[in-house]
Amino acid sequence: MIIVIRPHTPADKVEEVIREVAALGYLPNPIRGEYQTVVAAIGDEVTHASLESLTALPQVERVIRVQKRYKLASRESHPHPTIIDAGGVRIGGDEIVLMAGPCSVESEEQLMATAHAVKAAGATILRGGAYKPRTSPYEFQGLGPEGLRLLAAARKETGLRIITEVLSERDVETVAGTADILQLGARNSQNFQLLIACARSGKPILLKRGMSMRIEEWLLAAEYLLAHGNPNVILCERGIRTFENYTRNTLDLAAVAIAKQETHLPVVVDPSQGCGRADLVKVLCRGAVAVGADGLLIEVHPNPAEALSDGQQQLDPPSFASLVADLGPYLSAAGRVLPAQR
Ligand code: PEP
Ligand code: MN
Repeated sequence: MIIVIRPHTPADKVEEVIREVAALGYLPNPIRGEYQTVVAAIGDEVTHASLESLTALPQVERVIRVQKRYKLASRESHPHPTIIDAGGVRIGGDEIVLMAGPCSVESEEQLMATAHAVKAAGATILRGGAYKPRTSPYEFQGLGPEGLRLLAAARKETGLRIITEVLSERDVETVAGTADILQLGARNSQNFQLLIACARSGKPILLKRGMSMRIEEWLLAAEYLLAHGNPNVILCERGIRTFENYTRNTLDLAAVAIAKQETHLPVVVDPSQGCGRADLVKVLCRGAVAVGADGLLIEVHPNPAEALSDGQQQLDPPSFASLVADLGPYLSAAGRVLPAQR
């Protein structure tokens, strides 16, 4: 870290800062300019005490961090992209993974119809919430264990791998018993105890960006999973809350490009929560592919008008099939392929 001392600070006050830096476990290296002194503090910023507290001293103007706060997630620590194996589906290589299915698992008929349709169109992973985080307590909360049972049956019947959300520490073991990937939702991505419990399950985890999370906070949440021994972390951009109301959220594609630059982790885009409008999902998928996404998480329902959650943003099966078919030139331009095209 670099400690910038205010101009015209007397020598004894500069010495005081140098002593504090040493006391906090860093090697102080003062650089004395004509008007101002800066102290380079050498040490591991990730594990040592933060020197930001030194701004409490009146002679300290500011403290500048040099190292990133996330270490295991950073590209510097791991220059090659991480490829995750989720029950045999590889995420993070040159293939773009399609994860598709209903917002909520509603019934056997609904789930099976969707599973067959998304598989036929090229998806390799079936999404579907058994436990749903709903804004109102009066809205459909998900089928719970029965939803997990239906997801397991859909996997058995179609061979699709399963991604489903875990809402509480209490359910981690049960959900991990069925899921090939645990989904940590936008409302829970800074629920650190839940993150730790999910990390310990050993299952691959898709970590949504919280709706008011800065990129650094999102990457630090991923760092929690990595620091608790789970290397199989997938980041997912799903839109952030802004002042705009033509869309439900503002899909932040710059964050996808930044996450790809900053980390070695695969990044998936969820355009369904990202804009909340079925009519925009197709074009946002094209944008996601262009900025380097490794996968798409798309809501598909056999009859969106009757969906028990998020009907306005779910695609019907023919629209999903046409989305995938029309993605071809965009995939080629980005140098990517769909697993089924091999
Ligand atoms: C979902 O995928 O249906 C969902 C609830 O997502 P998010 O956590 O991004 O809102
Ligand atoms: Mn949804």
